Amino acid sequence: MTPSDYDVAIVGGGLAGATLARSLAGSGMRTLVVERAHAFKDRVRGEGLLPWGRVEAAKLGIEPLLNRAGAIDVRYWKRYLGGAPRDCRDLVATTPGRHGCLDFYHPDMQRTLLDAAESAGAHVRRGVEVTAVEPGTPPFIRIHTAHGDERVKARLVVGADGRSSKVRSAAGFTVRRDEHALMIAGVLHEGVQVPGDTVHYVQKPSAARAALVFPLGQGRFRSYFVYSSANAPRTMSGNGHAGDFVTSCIETGAPPEWFEEAEAIGPLAAYPGADTWVDHPYREGVVLIGDAAAASNPAWGCGLALTLRDARVLRDRLLPSGDWDAAAHAYATEHDAYYGALHRLHGWLTLLMYETGPAADARRARAFVRLAADPSRAVDLQGLGPESPSDEAARRRFFGEDAD
Ligand SMILES: Cc1cc2nc3c(=O)[nH]c(=O)nc-3n(C[C@H](O)[C@H](O)[C@H](O)COP(=O)(O)OP(=O)(O)OC[C@H]3O[C@@H](n4cnc5c(N)ncnc54)[C@H](O)[C@@H]3O)c2cc1C
Repeated sequence: MTPSDYDVAIVGGGLAGATLARSLAGSGMRTLVVERAHAFKDRVRGEGLLPWGRVEAAKLGIEPLLNRAGAIDVRYWKRYLGGAPRDCRDLVATTPGRHGCLDFYHPDMQRTLLDAAESAGAHVRRGVEVTAVEPGTPPFIRIHTAHGDERVKARLVVGADGRSSKVRSAAGFTVRRDEHALMIAGVLHEGVQVPGDTVHYVQKPSAARAALVFPLGQGRFRSYFVYSSANAPRTMSGNGHAGDFVTSCIETGAPPEWFEEAEAIGPLAAYPGADTWVDHPYREGVVLIGDAAAASNPAWGCGLALTLRDARVLRDRLLPSGDWDAAAHAYATEHDAYYGALHRLHGWLTLLMYETGPAADARRARAFVRLAADPSRAVDLQGLGPESPSDEAARRRFFGEDAD
């Protein structure tokens, strides 16, 4: 095979690219993956796959691989408000797929899935970078290597190159972005004193802050602190600030004893929480998946599930079709619908939990009473994700506006 006759050229070997490559190569498609990293390191990324994403993982057949990468089942989702426990959801008992969260260390997941794509027959090139994309029929990518540049042709180019996607800009997609409201900082901890079968979610909406702890197994935890960029409490990047990070989590309501023996064992990094996305992520032989298509606000923890939804939907459209242009358009139309719904739901949740001031307090006072009395009013991000109702009637029920 010459490098110029691939069915699919995938840029990026993260969750999106590796998962899609494994599926397509396993079905006989000549598949290339270009991944610029030689080895994966901690970049502070998602490590808690929500139950609706586990349904996608099962459809993609990657659950055994995630388990091999050290994933653990996390059954409970416990919320705290104003420093006190609020509720504890049994995810296995209450989600449609009867799943808990699946938590894993992101670099181990990436390595395992990319190795699996290679074992399934994909040609994986590591440590080289895609520098340009030429949309068209057929599309091309340019790869920069130590020995010079290569121009590679494929039936379809897939941009799976993450939240700062080069494919996206090179192919001429228009990037849309929410107002820059929230920031999320994260660090890998060892020795946090919380149960290992529970995600702990501490909310302080009056200060537009939250702290989350995801157990990863083997005594490790991914801790996040979410805050408004308008009132950043302290510097949240660089390991000299790991103590400030913990102080901020405690001020948000996390019990101090959780962190008494905690030690940061990875980089502390902060990212903007605002969504970035493109409408209709397909044009002229180039399709976008994962964060390149839509990086959703990490504060709501749906990015991994959304990424697997993309890989599954695109796979299901491509494999039975002889017309890949039509198949990729169909994927893009479907993406607009499910991402659009998720984006709406995230908007409601952000309005309820991260706005400050008297109007926001009044909104919460009204909604919280009704949500506590009737939990069916709530948005079910864990179990239903984008299938949680998001029409006007659902919006009014969520904010308690139907009960005036
Ligand atoms: C702070 C933070 C916390 C998060 N928390 C959660 C969470 O709790 N739960 C959740 O579900 N999601 C969370 N997410 C989101 C989740 O991490 C992402 O949605 C998911 O990792 C996206 O996967 P991806 O494969 O699309 O992109 P990436 O994981 O970014 O992978 C892209 C790959 O492309 C490669 N690449 C990039 N450019 C090129 C190029 N030019 N040539 C070759 N290779 C290239 C990169 O090296 C990388 O390996 C979080 C995100 C952040 C930032």
